[in-house]
Amino acid sequence: MPSTVILWLRRDLRLDDNPALQAALHGCDTLLPVYVHDPDSDAPWAPGAASRWWLHGSLTSMDRALRTLGSRLLIARGESLAELRRIVAATGATRIHWNRLYDPTSRKRDGQIKQALRTDGLRVESHNASLLFEPWEIATGNGEPYRVFTAFWRRCAARLSEVPPLRAPAALPPPPDSLDALPLERLGLLPTIPWDAGMREAWTPGETAALEQARAFVHDRIQGYANERDLPAQAGTSALSPHLHFGEIGPRRILAMVREQWGDPSADPVEPFVREIGWREFAHHLIYHYPHTTDEPLDRRFAALPWREDDADRMLRAWQRGATGIPLVDAGMRQLWHTGWMHNRVRMVVASFLTKNLRLPWQAGARWFWDTLVDADLAANSLGWQWSAGCGADAAPYFRIFNPVLQGERFDKTGTYVRRWCPELARLPDKYIHQPWTAPSALLDHAGIRIGRDYPAPIVDLKASREAALAAYEVVKSAGR
Ligand SMILES: Cc1cc2nc3c(=O)[nH]c(=O)nc-3n(C[C@H](O)[C@H](O)[C@H](O)COP(=O)(O)OP(=O)(O)OC[C@H]3O[C@@H](n4cnc5c(N)ncnc54)[C@H](O)[C@@H]3O)c2cc1C
Repeated sequence: MPSTVILWLRRDLRLDDNPALQAALHGCDTLLPVYVHDPDSDAPWAPGAASRWWLHGSLTSMDRALRTLGSRLLIARGESLAELRRIVAATGATRIHWNRLYDPTSRKRDGQIKQALRTDGLRVESHNASLLFEPWEIATGNGEPYRVFTAFWRRCAARLSEVPPLRAPAALPPPPDSLDALPLERLGLLPTIPWDAGMREAWTPGETAALEQARAFVHDRIQGYANERDLPAQAGTSALSPHLHFGEIGPRRILAMVREQWGDPSADPVEPFVREIGWREFAHHLIYHYPHTTDEPLDRRFAALPWREDDADRMLRAWQRGATGIPLVDAGMRQLWHTGWMHNRVRMVVASFLTKNLRLPWQAGARWFWDTLVDADLAANSLGWQWSAGCGADAAPYFRIFNPVLQGERFDKTGTYVRRWCPELARLPDKYIHQPWTAPSALLDHAGIRIGRDYPAPIVDLKASREAALAAYEVVKSAGR
């Protein structure tokens, strides 16, 4: 009997190293690659505006890739289980494959769907496309999940040779002619008012661009990563994060590229970059084992931290808009708004500033990032925010508060990054670019800047707000006793 198989695509929008696709092809006569748009089932973490923009491009690219191999992407909209059942009923499919997701909402939904479809008589199989190792495969000697990155990664690093990628198929069985598919435009993923020009300029979503970018990075730039990764004015990092989030490339392929060109991925000069892929694994390990960390601190003592009560809305808005009066923070927030991405060093600075100097809850920052980042990823974002707020696994100690002026002077010495995103400060000399409010007034006049008119005065005093944060932290310390 001819076999019809559904490939349920989600955040694995690629042909290369796609285990669900490979498994679906075994003994398959008719393949149905399906994407179901079901944002309600992702609530409260339905993709934000920047992610939706990326998703549109990624689905377009996936459809194009499938068509070159004789197939196409079938788009549906609605409740996932109901849509999958509708497709099964219309096609007589007997099998379904998908690649796993690890965030709590998706896990719950996928578990229910698996059970329901099995009860219907379907063969259902899920696979691992997005991680080097499943979160349950890596455990401490006592069988516990890890909470410290170094020990976690030591265990993973010893096994990196075990995870070769799968090749993309050369051809695909055709989909049925008869099935109605929704045009992608009907999902309404693109903005109705065109605020996405900066993102279009900065990014090309899709597998082809992801593979090209990874190849170019591994070939030309990976050896400089250790020295350049902290300099936000330079393209010193891979910028692969949105491609990885949407599964346009997988970590096993990246590792294989590294190995092919440089040999052992755990050795210099490539180890510092490979270790960051390790942080991505760690983020997924944590969200799988500690699912509450999307909203609550892993270190529960921090639930007692007293956040700011006065003027909180105004402070949050100034931070979101890049109008805090602290140049490195504002530059980062404007880069985010304009391109949907922010350099990692600056993410740490703006997160420290929000949670410590402004004493606003990390969850408010995580939400803003969720809506504005093209790489918004629940695992990495929760880890990043909790790390910065000092309340997560293996976090920076709370009392280590970044000074955004010193961070700027160290990592953006000549102010190139700040000048790019805060052009109103461009004419200031390097000495004052990270603290314009300290510049002599004649110099400000000469540079055409009046603080408070052309660029805001700092919304908080860095020293006083630091001390207030440390005082608030005393509450946490006593909560732990
Ligand atoms: C407050 C805060 C929020 C963050 N939110 C996100 C997010 O929503 N999505 C996201 O992908 N990353 C997030 N990060 C982590 C990091 O900033 C980005 O992954 C990185 O800047 C992406 O740029 P890149 O691809 O050039 O990274 P590279 O330096 O080239 O690193 C390669 C890859 O490793 C992974 N990676 C690197 N650093 C981390 C990290 N600290 N945690 C987890 N994975 C990492 C990413 O997949 C990245 O693409 C956040 C960090 C902070 C401090």
